[in-house]
Amino acid sequence: MLTPTGDRKSKLRQVECRGGGASMEDIVIIGGGLAGSSLGWSLAERGHRPLILESTTIGGGGATAHSRGMVRLYDDEPRLVALNRDGIGLWADVEVSRPGIFRRPGMIYAPAPSNRSRIEEFARMESRAAYPAETIDGPTISGLCGLLGDHFRRSARSVLWEPLAGYVDPRAGARFFADEAVRLGASLVEGCTVVDLYPACDHVVLTTGAGRITARRVILASGADTLRLQQPEGLFARSINLTSFIDDIAGAPEICLIDEVSKGYIRPGCRRSYFVGGAIQKDATVPEELKVDNAAADAQNLALSRRILRTRSNSAIASHPGYDAYTSDFLPLIRLPPEEGGAGLFTGFSGRGAKYIPAMARRFAASLSGGVG
Ligand SMILES: Cc1cc2nc3c(=O)[nH]c(=O)nc-3n(C[C@H](O)[C@H](O)[C@H](O)COP(=O)(O)OP(=O)(O)OC[C@H]3O[C@@H](n4cnc5c(N)ncnc54)[C@H](O)[C@@H]3O)c2cc1C
Repeated sequence: MLTPTGDRKSKLRQVECRGGGASMEDIVIIGGGLAGSSLGWSLAERGHRPLILESTTIGGGGATAHSRGMVRLYDDEPRLVALNRDGIGLWADVEVSRPGIFRRPGMIYAPAPSNRSRIEEFARMESRAAYPAETIDGPTISGLCGLLGDHFRRSARSVLWEPLAGYVDPRAGARFFADEAVRLGASLVEGCTVVDLYPACDHVVLTTGAGRITARRVILASGADTLRLQQPEGLFARSINLTSFIDDIAGAPEICLIDEVSKGYIRPGCRRSYFVGGAIQKDATVPEELKVDNAAADAQNLALSRRILRTRSNSAIASHPGYDAYTSDFLPLIRLPPEEGGAGLFTGFSGRGAKYIPAMARRFAASLSGGVG
């Protein structure tokens, strides 16, 4: 629950208790990234009419704007594997309605030697006909993909191969969910920043740049910027720096790679371009306190790209200084708003949310509507 602090808010609370209720929103969602937009869609599908407030444009203001949306099944945390499976299924459905949002070139997950048996166990337990996952060795990989194959050609390392993994376009996905939400009865206001919120009896009062909104239930789906409004225990901001590269000579890798040893990861872009991440991350209690040297992060990503792809002909063309809301166990921070009125949370996706946020939104909406999550 939100806890108002200070005299000003206590006085306002008394005023709101006397006067609240005239034109009250039932559900307000703060934030229109992947979380807020897919939650708006899931709630609207269940007959709610949420109001989504977004500071910038849908998918344009936070992690979703920078994310390159790699989607795979494997995670060290079994609860995230289950969520990823649901997420992959949901993105596959979205791809049918809006082709081009989910591309599936396949993904290699190269574990550290100490993790090899874990990966083999994962492939044994989780591989299904509908979504295969297998361990393969260096020579097999080099047969699968040219540029990345060089990295593994002489390696005896066993890696996890998910041929149906790939990447979504998180921003286009957020726009798709928001459009669907509006079509089903939700309302959306872009360019609207919530600067303050506090509970008042059976509702919450939101202050925006231009006035006040009262709502019975509020859901903070504002990514790491949630920390500007509230500091829920266990939530913090972490930087994620990606760099775009172009390589006219060697070209771009065809598939995605996550390499535990170097801590680098690669996602294909267009024909000659690709994205590389893995630069050292920084943590802070609010996003504005993240002390990231973006030029140094791009230099680290360049070094990673050259080590993994064995090329020297690539050059950096864009920097993506993103951040996300993290929890220490990487599990999201999900709290339903109280039925009698108040605020809830839908955040903490810990740099992994593109895989499963829309599926999690469905569970959240089901629970909020009293159905099965
Ligand atoms: C560089 C980068 C790469 C990533 N790569 C991957 C990946 O490969 N695979 C994967 O699964 N995940 C990845 N992620 C993580 C994933 O993209 C995020 O977990 C997900 O996008 C988070 O979505 P969100 O809606 O919770 O937050 P955000 O996208 O941050 O959305 C929050 C929204 O709320 C708005 N907002 C904030 N405060 C307010 C306010 N006070 N009033 C109104 N609006 C407000 C913001 O403008 C923003 O649009 C990556 C993230 C980053 C940053």
